[in-house]
Amino acid sequence: METSLHLYLSPHLDDAVFSCGGRIAQEARQGLRVWVVTVFAGSPVGPLSDYAQMLHAFWGLTEVDAPAARREEDRAALALLGAEPIHWEFLDCIYRRTPEGRFLYPNYDALWGPIAEEDRVLGEELARRIGELPPFAQLFVPLGAGRHVDHRLVRQAAEATGRPLVYYEDYPYAGEAGRVVEALGEGPWESERVWLDEEALKAKVAAARRYRSQISSFWADEADLEAHFWAYATEVGEGRPAERYWYRRK
Ligand SMILES: [Zn+2]
Repeated sequence: METSLHLYLSPHLDDAVFSCGGRIAQEARQGLRVWVVTVFAGSPVGPLSDYAQMLHAFWGLTEVDAPAARREEDRAALALLGAEPIHWEFLDCIYRRTPEGRFLYPNYDALWGPIAEEDRVLGEELARRIGELPPFAQLFVPLGAGRHVDHRLVRQAAEATGRPLVYYEDYPYAGEAGRVVEALGEGPWESERVWLDEEALKAKVAAARRYRSQISSFWADEADLEAHFWAYATEVGEGRPAERYWYRRK
C-alpha cells in the first residue's frame, strides 16, 4: 500500500502549522509528500456579523478580503515547510448564516459552545469530502482541544469516514492545562512523540510567523510566539523538543 502522502486537515488557516509544523518540516525534508488541507478557508459573500467585523479589525484586515489574505499567509508558511496548500471553500464559523441570514456563531462565546443544528448538513458534506481524499493518504486530524466548533466539526467528520486517523494536539489551545485530556474523552488512546530537531523547530516558528494577522490573537508579539513554541515543544518532550500525536488503540 502506498503511504507516501501525509495529509493534514487544518480547520483554519494556521492550525496545522501551529500544531504539526515541526513534523511537517521533517517529513518534507525527508522527501515525503505533505498536503495541508484547510477546511474553512472560503471567502464569505454578503454581510458580516459585528463580531466578524471586529475580528477583521483586530487582524488588521478590514480593507481586504480577509480569508484571501489569510490564504496568502498560508501559502507563504507552507512554502517554508515544503508542504502543498489546499484550500477548501467552506466558511469559518464566524461567517456562517442560516438561509434567513441569521449568524450561527455571532460572538466569542458561541465559538466554544454547541455545534449549531444548522451545521448538521455541513458536517455530512465534510465527511463526504474527507472520504474522497486519496485512500492511501495518512490523515492527520485535530483532537479539538479547546473545543472550537470548527475543530470539533472536522474531527467528527473525519471520524464519520471510518478511516484510520492520527490526531494532533490543537496548539495553542492544547497548551492550556487539561485541554488535551478533555478533548481525548473516552479511550483507549495511545500517544506517540515525534522528536523535533532544531532545524525543524526553527522552521515551524518561521512558518508560524507568516500567519501575521493571527499572531496578536494568541501572543504579545513574534518573540513571544517563538518563546511559547519552544516552551511547549520542550514540555511535550520533557526536556527535548517534540510534538505529540494520538491514536485510538484497537
Ligand atoms: Zn483553528
